[in-house]
Amino acid sequence: MTIPYRESRNPTQNMRLLIVEDEPDLLAGLARALRKQGYAVDTAADGEDGLYKAASTDYDAIVLDVMLPILDGWQLLARLRQSKTTPVLMLTARDSSADRVRGLDTGADDYLVKPFDVPELLARLRALIRRSVHQARPTIDIGDVHIDTAARTVTRAGEPVTLTAREYVMLEYFAMHRGEVVTRTALYEHLFDENEATLSNILDVHVFNLRKKLGQEFILTRRGHGYSIA
Ligand code: CA
Repeated sequence: MTIPYRESRNPTQNMRLLIVEDEPDLLAGLARALRKQGYAVDTAADGEDGLYKAASTDYDAIVLDVMLPILDGWQLLARLRQSKTTPVLMLTARDSSADRVRGLDTGADDYLVKPFDVPELLARLRALIRRSVHQARPTIDIGDVHIDTAARTVTRAGEPVTLTAREYVMLEYFAMHRGEVVTRTALYEHLFDENEATLSNILDVHVFNLRKKLGQEFILTRRGHGYSIA
């Protein structure tokens, strides 16, 4: 069994993403680049599989190619929008205003024209995810804990707090769902992708460590439901 505790050298803003793209090299390259940033990444190579995954999992964002087999990106998006508001970044083949207008009308949140630079894709995804949780400012304050989501740093009462990549990811996820009960299932879905085997107590270990670093009362256990932060 593989222990999924990948201690990333890069600080990570780990969120779970779906990439729908039928060009194998581009799909593999994108998935690799995004995983390197610490995202959990699922992939689909056609519109039907993409729609199935997009509808059945709460992704933090979806990167969606327009030209796809079975269902194209427009069709996928139109059907997805009947049930979900997941942020969608469309990849269009050319910079035509007709495509842009159609994408935005259909419910795309942003678009990028191929070929694009990976750093730009990363920046736009971060912005999309922030906007989707109504978090326009890149910093979050909870009590004396200050989270800078752009720099991915955390301070408590002004003192730097050192977190592992996974701890940071978990903290940010809690922060973005402040006031809600976060279920263990939701945490698993956002922290680990479909290819990672997970240990059942891994969440408890991370919660234990976060409490040790941020205070015992920072994360509340909602027995039988999950966790919440004040
Ligand atoms: Ca394509």
